[in-house]
Amino acid sequence: MIPQQLIAHKRDGGALNEGQLRALLTAYLDGTVGDEQMAAFLMAVYFNGLTDAELDVLVDVMLHSGEVLSPDETGRPRVDKHSTGGVGDKVSLVLAPLAAELGMVVPMMSGRGLGHTGGTLDKLEAIPGFRTRISIERFNQVLRDVGCAMIGQTEEIAPLDRKLYALRDITGTVPSLPLITASIMSKKLAEALNGLVLDVKVGEGAFLVRPEDARALAQAMVRVGVAKGLKVTAVLSAMDRPLGRAIGHTLEVEEALACLRGGGPSDLRAICIELAAQMAFVGGLAMSAEEGRNQATSALDDGGALDRFARLVASQGGDVSFLDGDKLPQAPLDGVATAGQDGIVAGIDPRALGYSLIALGGGRTRQDDDLDHRVGIVLEVEVGERVSAGQPLAMVHAANEDKLAQGVKAVKQAITVADVSPSPLPLVLETVTG
Ligand code: URA
Repeated sequence: MIPQQLIAHKRDGGALNEGQLRALLTAYLDGTVGDEQMAAFLMAVYFNGLTDAELDVLVDVMLHSGEVLSPDETGRPRVDKHSTGGVGDKVSLVLAPLAAELGMVVPMMSGRGLGHTGGTLDKLEAIPGFRTRISIERFNQVLRDVGCAMIGQTEEIAPLDRKLYALRDITGTVPSLPLITASIMSKKLAEALNGLVLDVKVGEGAFLVRPEDARALAQAMVRVGVAKGLKVTAVLSAMDRPLGRAIGHTLEVEEALACLRGGGPSDLRAICIELAAQMAFVGGLAMSAEEGRNQATSALDDGGALDRFARLVASQGGDVSFLDGDKLPQAPLDGVATAGQDGIVAGIDPRALGYSLIALGGGRTRQDDDLDHRVGIVLEVEVGERVSAGQPLAMVHAANEDKLAQGVKAVKQAITVADVSPSPLPLVLETVTG
């Protein structure tokens, strides 16, 4: 195998056969092919895509580059959800215990913030003591005891994805449909699932902004999963504005908790119910999505999901006192971003707010940056709402005066007040099934 020959073939729009692609990827994994050659290959894929056959090989090599977890021995359906990433997306915190309460086993392997988007692991770590790095043995024990467990991608799971992902992150090759598909599906297939629900975000705050691209991504992920014998449903959901009101780790944990108590913002509750219903359906626990919605609504309203969440937090070492009314550590300062004029909230730019959170210290600009979990933004208005000059649009929570002043300014710019009626995307645009 001559790497530069394969790279040039892909660059010129050709397709690699199984042997060629396996050889290239395996050589990268063992270090014979270096980052510079793999970066060139990834860029060729970014521009020219992959055939279905090439994508299947990539998924297979990534999946078998590491360990595959053991199937559930209790006979309960093993089902997970994965989001393609957004701003204010705290759904997993609600959904894992909610789905467990409905009878599923949920081995959730989540990620950290990426680009302007937030990550579930970072949010969980806002809970003092919560450990997202636990052994596979402990993970399996928590799954048996609680029905759900939440960890980060371990060293053992899909190491080729970890390596490629880090390279994509610094070479502008993250927003590639086949590369996202392989990255997500290899990790999900390693969880030995019976069913999977994908939350594919659409709009300015998503990696793939246009509905047609998000739909193509959903179709590709569903095809790959179904070919491996997995029941997969993809839900295309709105990310043209943030989800819920809170953006920032502690603030999002608090908002997730409100949802688990049967309250919280209506869009957050609605998407959690929808995704839990689809999980129950692919897991064979509900005969229809409608039946699943009824089950999920009850589990949120009767405290069952909240109780599961408390058990999950305790099992993974977290301090549960915040569930009994104690406050999580809060940012020392807050300030208000107000409307500059009368009008209608025409848009709330999720990408700009994601970057504002990073500037406040709640996200990373380097891989090894420490996060300030306390900082963030809480929206006081929704798209389409009429506001008057001087009315609060959002509260900004910051660590110092400078960051507060910059944050207030950035948040004000991210919220457009004008004399136009906006047309936000519906919360759920469509569902793609296998
Ligand atoms: N999430 C992943 O796990 N991988 C990607 O490539 C994009 C989002």
